[in-house]
Amino acid sequence: MSNWQTYLQPKNLSEAVEALATAPKPLVPIAGGTDLMIDLEQGRHAPVHTLLDVTGIQEMLALEIRGEQLFIGAGIAVNKVVNHPEVSKHAQALYEAGSLIAGPQVRNVATLGGNVAHALPAADGTISLTALGAEAEITGIHGARRIPFQELFVGPGKSSIKQGEEILVGFYLPLKKDHQASAFKRIMRPQGVALPIINLAVWLERDGDTIKDIRIAIGPGGPTPYRAKETEKLLAGRIMNDETIQLAQESILAHVGFRSSARRASADYRRHIVEGLFKDVLQTAWDRA
Ligand SMILES: Cc1cc2nc3c(=O)[nH]c(=O)nc-3n(C[C@H](O)[C@H](O)[C@H](O)COP(=O)(O)OP(=O)(O)OC[C@H]3O[C@@H](n4cnc5c(N)ncnc54)[C@H](O)[C@@H]3O)c2cc1C
Repeated sequence: MSNWQTYLQPKNLSEAVEALATAPKPLVPIAGGTDLMIDLEQGRHAPVHTLLDVTGIQEMLALEIRGEQLFIGAGIAVNKVVNHPEVSKHAQALYEAGSLIAGPQVRNVATLGGNVAHALPAADGTISLTALGAEAEITGIHGARRIPFQELFVGPGKSSIKQGEEILVGFYLPLKKDHQASAFKRIMRPQGVALPIINLAVWLERDGDTIKDIRIAIGPGGPTPYRAKETEKLLAGRIMNDETIQLAQESILAHVGFRSSARRASADYRRHIVEGLFKDVLQTAWDRA
């Protein structure tokens, strides 16, 4: 028996909302299908009646400057996102994260929206967008809403997008100003598992030798994509030097919630490597800014 009965391909958001309102349930959005198809076929996702393909929705394929923000449609393939010049200019961490997701064949179909909507705490696109201070646009049968990126996540694999009633439309990122920059790196087993042992993104603004403002995201640093807010507060306004880096490393270790995962790494190993990874990413963003 097929894992679904109906496959819908709306061309715009009003057709998509109409489908959300009227198509037989259970209804699940599908983008590249690189996570969902495997989950359906391997029985990790309950069979669905309707698959709603979001990759032909024109509003979700836009990538453009809108006022003071960069809009990136959730239905765009990762490869197209990373090859867009506005992304490497305004969102270096996203460029770096997207370039590392899987291999070229997966990146040609996998979307940034699917990477985020799956709500995994160490998805590479998700961790970069967390540090970049993104907002998410969602639409559905009760209207549209725009929320801070972190409000999308409620637990491992659980998002606040109302299943069968809403879809993720896209992301808004602040445009990069002078003396601001970001960076993303990850530590990964060479093959076999999709998600990294640990990934980390930093966005910062510098004022001479001082860290004026900073955002730090670490995956998987908790049940949802982890933002190191205590460490950010500690660093804002401090001179960038070895003492500051050491304080930040201690603060991260005091607050981050690493866990052991059977196929990737132990919590102890993650604690061991996060200090070096943080220093490296911080220094890269600092030099760029
Ligand atoms: C071989 C391989 C390697 C991988 N490597 C990596 C890696 O290195 N890093 C990494 O982060 N990930 C990796 N992944 C995971 C996955 O490919 C990516 O997370 C990808 O971006 C998912 O996007 P998709 O468009 O294929 O999502 P889909 O599989 O289509 O959807 C994923 C989930 O999101 C939901 N969804 C999709 N779009 C929307 C939307 N617009 N609104 C609401 N819900 C939506 C679906 O219903 C589903 O629950 C890998 C996967 C494979 C198979």
